[in-house]
Amino acid sequence: MKYPEVRNYINGTYVPAKTTPLMDVISPVDGTLLSKVPLSDPKDLDEAVTDARQAFATWSKTPIKERVQVFYRYKVLLEKNIDSLSRLIQEENGKTYDEAKAEIEKSIELTEFACSLPQMVCGDILEVSKGVECRTELCPLGVVASIVPFNFPSMVPHWTIPNALALGNTMILKPSEVVPLSALRIAGMLEEAGLPAGVFNIVHGDRSLVEAICDHPGIDAVSFVGSTKVAKIVYARASSNHKRVLALGGAKNHLVVLPDAHPAMTAANVAASMAGCAGQRCMAASVLITVGDCDSIVDLVCSEAQKFIPGLNLGSVISGAAKERIETYIAEAEKQGAIVRLDGRNVIVPGKENGFYVGPTIIDQVSADMPVAFEEIFGPVLSIIRVNSIDEALSIENSNPYGNAAAIFTQSGSMAKYFADHFNSGMIGVNIGVPVPREPFSFGGWNDSKFGVGDLTGKSSIDFWTKLKKITTKWNPEARTNWMS
Ligand code: NAD
Repeated sequence: MKYPEVRNYINGTYVPAKTTPLMDVISPVDGTLLSKVPLSDPKDLDEAVTDARQAFATWSKTPIKERVQVFYRYKVLLEKNIDSLSRLIQEENGKTYDEAKAEIEKSIELTEFACSLPQMVCGDILEVSKGVECRTELCPLGVVASIVPFNFPSMVPHWTIPNALALGNTMILKPSEVVPLSALRIAGMLEEAGLPAGVFNIVHGDRSLVEAICDHPGIDAVSFVGSTKVAKIVYARASSNHKRVLALGGAKNHLVVLPDAHPAMTAANVAASMAGCAGQRCMAASVLITVGDCDSIVDLVCSEAQKFIPGLNLGSVISGAAKERIETYIAEAEKQGAIVRLDGRNVIVPGKENGFYVGPTIIDQVSADMPVAFEEIFGPVLSIIRVNSIDEALSIENSNPYGNAAAIFTQSGSMAKYFADHFNSGMIGVNIGVPVPREPFSFGGWNDSKFGVGDLTGKSSIDFWTKLKKITTKWNPEARTNWMS
C-alpha cells in the first residue's frame, strides 16, 4: 500500500473512524493499491458536527476581512504545492498530469474569488422613514456539508470550501470514497494557512454517510455534486429535513455544428471537449449534432480525436466497472445500427495493463432514440446525430432531461444568438467546447442537472451560503412622526 490508511479529519486531528469497514483505494492508472478508506458511520459524523458547531461560535464572529486572510495564505500554498497535488490527483483519479494541474489552477481561481468576498458582501443601508434606518447583513448559516464526486478531487471541493468558509460557515466535507486522498492535502494546507481547528472537517464514507448527513439535525445546509440519480435523493431527503440544499447532477451536453463553422478550430474544440479528462466531466461534449452538410468537419473531428492516445495524453477512466459500462454503450449502439468510426474499446496500455483505459470513440449515424443519444455515458465517447435544420437540433437538445451545457459552432452571429436564446441549458457556449463560466460568473446547469435555487460558485453562491438579516433602527427621540415610529 503506497499511502497510510486514510483517516477522518475532525477538529484539526486525523482520527480513525469508529467503524471497521475499509475500502481499497485503487489507482485507475495501473491498478496499484494506494490506500484504504474508512466507511464512517453516523457516530463519526456526530463528532464532526459537534466540533464544527463549536468552531462556528468563534469563526462566524470573526470579521470577514480577517477570515479571508486564511485564503490569501492558502492560495500561496496551492501555488507552491501545485506539482505534488497534480501528481496525487493523477494517481487517484487517473486523469493526465496536465489535466490535474489545470484542476489546481482552477482551485486557485476559486480561492481568489473567495478573497474578494469582503468587497461583494457589503450590506445595503437606507433611511426608510424619518430618523429610521434599515440595513442588511449577510449571516452565515451554521454547519454545512459538502458531498462531492470522484471526477474532480480538488476543483469540486473548491467550488464550496473557500466561499462557504469565508462567508463564516464551518464545514464537513464528504469526499468521494473512490478518491479520498486529495482532500487530506486540502485539510493540511488549510491548517497551515491558519484555519482554526473545527472550521473544516472531513468524514469519509459512502451512501450510508450521505444519508446520515441528510438526516443530521446539526447540519444546516447541504451541497451535493454527483449523478442525477443521487442528486435527486439528496435533494429530497435533506430538504425534507428542512435543510437548505443545492444538488448538482449529471449531464448530456450537445454541441451543434453548422456548415459555416471554422473547421480546424471547431474540430480541435469538439475533440478536446469529448476526450478531455477521458470524458469524465459534467461539461464534456457527448452528442455532436451536425446541421446540413458538415462531412468535412466531422472528418476533421475524427482525426483530431485520434490524437488522444490512452496512457499518454488521454487518462484512464475511474474503474473497471466504468470501462465496462462505456464499452457496453458502444457495443449496443453498434448493434442498433450506428457506425463506430473511431473505436476505443479493448485498449491495453503497455506497462499499465491493470489500468482502466478507453480510447477516443466516435459513433456516427446515431438516432435520437438510441441510449447513446440521451443517457450520460461519462467516457470519451461522442455520438453524432445528423439533422437538416437548427430547429431539429433544438428539439433534440430540448427534449433531453439534462440541461448542463450546450454549445454551437458557427460564424453567424444571428444563428449563435438564436441558439443562445432557445437552447434549454444553464451554460451556453459559442465556439467554445467546454463553456465553463469563470469567476465571478457562477457555475450551474438547469433541469435534471441541478436541483435547488441559485448556483454553487461565483456571485450566485453568496445567497446559498448566507441568510439575510434586516435591521431597522431608530435613534431619534421623536415619537409617532409617522406609522413606523
Ligand atoms: P455519484 O452520484 O455516484 O457520487 C457522488 C457522491 O454521492 C459521492 O460522494 C458518493 O459517495 C455519494 N453516493 C453515491 N451513491 C450514493 C447513494 N446511492 N446515496 C447517497 N450517496 C451516494 O457520482 P460520481 O460517480 O462520483 O461522479 C460522476 C457524476 O457526477 C456524473 O454524473 C457527473 O455528471 C456528475 N458531476 C456533475 C457536476 C455538475 O456540476 N453538475 C460536476 C461533477 C460531476
